[in-house]
Amino acid sequence: MDSHYDVLIMGGGIIGQSISYHLNKAGVKAGVIDKNKSGQQATRAAAGMLGVHTENREDDTFYQFCRRSRNLYSGLSKELRELTGIDIGLTSFGMLEIAANQEEKHELLQKNKTFQNLKWLNGPQLRERIPSLSKEACGALYMGEDGHVEPKNVCEAFKRGALLYGGELIENNTVRKIKQSAGGYQVQLEDVILTADKVVAATGAESGKWFEFTGLQNPIVPTKGECFSIQPTTTYFKESLFFNNFYLVPKPDGRCIIGATSKPYDQCTTTTAGGLSGLMNQVFSIVPDLKNEPFLDFWSGVRPGSLDGRPIIGEHPNLSGFLFATGHYRNGILLAPVTGQLVKDLIVNQTVDSSIQDLLSPIRIQTSGGSKYEYSSEWQTC
Ligand SMILES: Cc1cc2nc3c(=O)[nH]c(=O)nc-3n(C[C@H](O)[C@H](O)[C@H](O)COP(=O)(O)OP(=O)(O)OC[C@H]3O[C@@H](n4cnc5c(N)ncnc54)[C@H](O)[C@@H]3O)c2cc1C
Repeated sequence: MDSHYDVLIMGGGIIGQSISYHLNKAGVKAGVIDKNKSGQQATRAAAGMLGVHTENREDDTFYQFCRRSRNLYSGLSKELRELTGIDIGLTSFGMLEIAANQEEKHELLQKNKTFQNLKWLNGPQLRERIPSLSKEACGALYMGEDGHVEPKNVCEAFKRGALLYGGELIENNTVRKIKQSAGGYQVQLEDVILTADKVVAATGAESGKWFEFTGLQNPIVPTKGECFSIQPTTTYFKESLFFNNFYLVPKPDGRCIIGATSKPYDQCTTTTAGGLSGLMNQVFSIVPDLKNEPFLDFWSGVRPGSLDGRPIIGEHPNLSGFLFATGHYRNGILLAPVTGQLVKDLIVNQTVDSSIQDLLSPIRIQTSGGSKYEYSSEWQTC
């Protein structure tokens, strides 16, 4: 283990590993520190949807940011397979956002006016395509370009790729304390102090403390999500289905991932019977036949939400060289490639689109007044 790095990244989920991959590939010596094993928190819980059109209603800057990230995946799939031998499980059968009542149908038809690349299917057309859907499904918007990936494989591939480009990974070691030192930072782990020119906080749902310890208000909204999977004995549909914030994602290996509940400010990762039964009732009302299929697994994770639902990516307003890359809420898998690229561009001083910088800036959700920019040169964390 070296003791000095160009960049130290706190957090080895998909966001930290993507940043490490992009930095090391660009020749910047970056190390990742994770308190657990890399990729075992929110990243492990995700279904892996690249839901550009389920997550957006307007063709705005954020929509374009999501599109850019999704589009990066096809090149990355090849690049990471060649470099690391890992298949990231990119599939492109598209997504169907289903309307289960007239109000949802109206909303989806409006959405279709905004995104004319999507295709509306009425009820009969939809059931002809997927006969197992219940009569409640009165139409759907087909999003042919939006697929999904296997999140743990993407994270592992970024991790191994970063290591092959000269990066480092320190696992099972918590960042306890950070201190500004001449021109950079001292980063205290459980048993060693490292130094770095720059530090990135990519600590997922636990990122709030880094805002507080650096004198900012905490904009992170940890949001628990519960999921389960089944192993259907036949192919009901190849597309991912999405409705009313629930989804079914058929994976290439035959599993179907079904999610997810949503509980803001709940960080407990116990999967509850009540959570799963509510989820099952919702999902089986749309695809009743799945009730008879073998149950496989269940789990939960905590999404790193933010107060306005958007990621927080950029430099601390007062601390040069201290960056945040967090708050990706339910889009961290979708946005991992573009986040890695953006943080790399910010660090190597490449030109960054100012509309994106403003949209994602850490300062945007800080209310005025109080001691928001007061900080000490030494911060403590548990
Ligand atoms: C049920 C569920 C379903 C989801 N489905 C999707 C989906 O389909 N598509 C999508 O795009 N997104 C989805 N998401 C969201 C996505 O999983 C997250 O946005 C993404 O994983 C966030 O990645 P991260 O690296 O920021 O956080 P994490 O993966 O949580 O990684 C943060 C890491 O930081 C480490 N850490 C924290 N504090 C410290 C410290 N002090 N020192 C060292 N290490 C520390 C943790 O151990 C952890 O490994 C889903 C999330 C959930 C919970």
